[in-house]
Amino acid sequence: MPYFVSRQFYYYQQINVVEIAYPSIDSSGPDMLIEKYAGEGEEYKNPIEALEIALNIASNWKNDIPDEDIFITFGCMEFCEGEPIDINNHEDIEELKKEVQKHYESLPKCSYCGELIDEKEYYINPDSEYTEDKFCSEFHAEKAYLEGYTLCHICEGDFKREDMYYRDLDIYVCNKCQDLEDSYELIEIQKNIR
Ligand SMILES: [Zn+2]
Ligand SMILES: [Zn+2]
Repeated sequence: MPYFVSRQFYYYQQINVVEIAYPSIDSSGPDMLIEKYAGEGEEYKNPIEALEIALNIASNWKNDIPDEDIFITFGCMEFCEGEPIDINNHEDIEELKKEVQKHYESLPKCSYCGELIDEKEYYINPDSEYTEDKFCSEFHAEKAYLEGYTLCHICEGDFKREDMYYRDLDIYVCNKCQDLEDSYELIEIQKNIR
């Protein structure tokens, strides 16, 4: 879910705004100004990062036009102008930071590394059926699977897959059982020799 940061002059409210729009560039307002400051006109994966950039742009913009008010908006602006927050109102800005933080916490993340993942594009492993885990990459889906626990096919003890012998499609055997079977085979071979 990208967050698009742009400067706008809101037509209905007649105000200067640094807008953080999501879930895509299409949710941005129609009154975008020409890019002038670092980081504007770009999409960000992390809303907290987008807010930091937006606040930076707002303060640089304010330096250039000190007599005018600058506002921040956050949300989907596809059909309406956002609710403006004055960058000089520190309480409201703190409130906005908390809101964005909360929003960030509600977003889906990789169950292995904790990085944000796309809501529509992510990886799962066979355990996901029960755990509902989602992953950022094939690599992390596999890592999590191998570090996950499963039952030994023979003794039914619970072990980490990476510490076990892989036999067949999701059939794992613990070290002890495998060693035991190996020793049986050894005995059988010895019998054949006699
Ligand atoms: Zn990951
Ligand atoms: Zn076992």
